[in-house]
Amino acid sequence: MTDPLPAQPHETSQAAIDAFRAAIVGELGGDALLDDPDRMVPYLREWRDLFHGTTPFVLRPRNTGEVATIVRHAAANRVALVPQGGNTGLVGGQIPVTGGREVVVSLERMNGIVEVDARGNTMTVEAGAIVADIQAAALAEDRIFPVTLASQGSCRVGGLISTNAGGTGVLAYGNTRDQVLGLEVVLADGRIWNGLRGLRKDNTGYDLKHLFIGAEGTLGIVTRAVLKLAPKPYARDVALVGVDSPATALSLMARVRGAVGESLTAFELIPRIGLQFVLTYGHGARDPFTNGLPDWAVLIEASTFSPDRPMRDVLEAVLMAAYEDGTITDAVVSQSIAEAEDFWRLREQLSEVQGKAGGSIKHDVSVPVAAVPQFLQEGIEAALTVVPDARPVPFGHLGDGNIHFNFSQPEGGDKAAFLAKWEAVNAAVHAVVKRFNGSIAAEHGVGRLKREMLYTVRDDVELDMMRSIKAAFDPDNIMNPGRVLPTKPRGA
Ligand SMILES: Cc1cc2nc3c(=O)[nH]c(=O)nc-3n(C[C@H](O)[C@H](O)[C@H](O)COP(=O)(O)OP(=O)(O)OC[C@H]3O[C@@H](n4cnc5c(N)ncnc54)[C@H](O)[C@@H]3O)c2cc1C
Repeated sequence: MTDPLPAQPHETSQAAIDAFRAAIVGELGGDALLDDPDRMVPYLREWRDLFHGTTPFVLRPRNTGEVATIVRHAAANRVALVPQGGNTGLVGGQIPVTGGREVVVSLERMNGIVEVDARGNTMTVEAGAIVADIQAAALAEDRIFPVTLASQGSCRVGGLISTNAGGTGVLAYGNTRDQVLGLEVVLADGRIWNGLRGLRKDNTGYDLKHLFIGAEGTLGIVTRAVLKLAPKPYARDVALVGVDSPATALSLMARVRGAVGESLTAFELIPRIGLQFVLTYGHGARDPFTNGLPDWAVLIEASTFSPDRPMRDVLEAVLMAAYEDGTITDAVVSQSIAEAEDFWRLREQLSEVQGKAGGSIKHDVSVPVAAVPQFLQEGIEAALTVVPDARPVPFGHLGDGNIHFNFSQPEGGDKAAFLAKWEAVNAAVHAVVKRFNGSIAAEHGVGRLKREMLYTVRDDVELDMMRSIKAAFDPDNIMNPGRVLPTKPRGA
């Protein structure tokens, strides 16, 4: 079996950093480099403040050629690079380690929309384009870019691709991987791979783009992408529905899908405590329920793709029937675009408001869709054996079996003491995930947070294949070292 890679490629000397810096300034000019400590702060910590680091300087290339120059000199001097997009990643992959000499390469200045091809339903973008800007550019051509997530105003498409982000549209449109037709990538030796093909069919050998999608910057730096666009729905109707349990939510999903078919574009689960958190700590949120806050809420979105068949009527009919036969306890269907946005706000603020309710221990897991209710029960029991008073706040993409399985600290409890149980709670929950044949990194990736956990869910054969790929693409381990792959031997 291939040996684990060290967290650092080697001890990068100050002399190597100085030589690297001089080469970059010589070729790209001082403007490409940022070393003012105050201006570097935003690149060195992420929004939850779980990861912070240090870097000799931040590099901000303006085009693919400049990225290639940076990587070529980094390879020559064996300097480790940390690609960064919008810095919204949740597993620490985009933050350099503390005390090390990893250099941050921010793609933020490469933020152009190169081309929108409405007839071919494709779009070519630079890696630093903000996802919300991509969505807006698609809409301007009566198309949508269907990856939708709460961080879309900040995250950039290179980060989206490198984490294979999911979000709320996966149910209907798939993950980011399903939206990528072609990529341009700067490889670890500084060569540029031009795979910017917008083809829907291409079986010419290995499909290399898929190696970079979800690689979290460990194999190369994504510089441009060709994305798929989808038709813009005529309308999107959103309902908030009260149910007594996740099992009922699941059977409701089958019922709604039976009625609206492929028009079901989101089905999100929210627990009562999550609604309470948003109403207490969120902004612009109001309680839309008429019968009091339900134990569990589901947010259902149905999109109308043909004006002849408005989904709103179908959705209302199926919810009315479910209310009358006692399956659901409450239901409100949005009456306007503004109200639909209000409903979505309740869902989208869930991650953010948890931070205001004290410390939280998080898991990003998936299990087979039909197993979600049983998983929730067993997972909560397992976590509560470690911290009996923790408050479960599981929410998320029920339609994909992907639950953000979070626990808030006991009310009035000590935050630090609670967070000290992070690993023990993770271990208890992940053991349950494993029993259900699920994933411990459903959509946020592995980064630095989960790399050693890979041993619990991947066997040596699979890890060996991953390490071989890394060694083939990045033999000197300069591309985001210490992310994704375990750095210690199994059992250490
Ligand atoms: C409030 C909130 C909600 C979120 N909701 C979701 C959600 O619903 N679904 C979901 O999947 N994620 C979600 N995320 C996580 C995060 O937003 C996504 O993973 C996002 O895709 C990261 O994009 P970014 O540009 O911020 O990447 P960064 O955080 O900058 O980087 C993420 C990783 O990609 C690498 N990387 C970045 N750019 C490049 C590049 N050009 N080439 C190579 N590697 C690169 C980095 O090194 C790092 O390993 C959420 C985050 C927040 C803060």
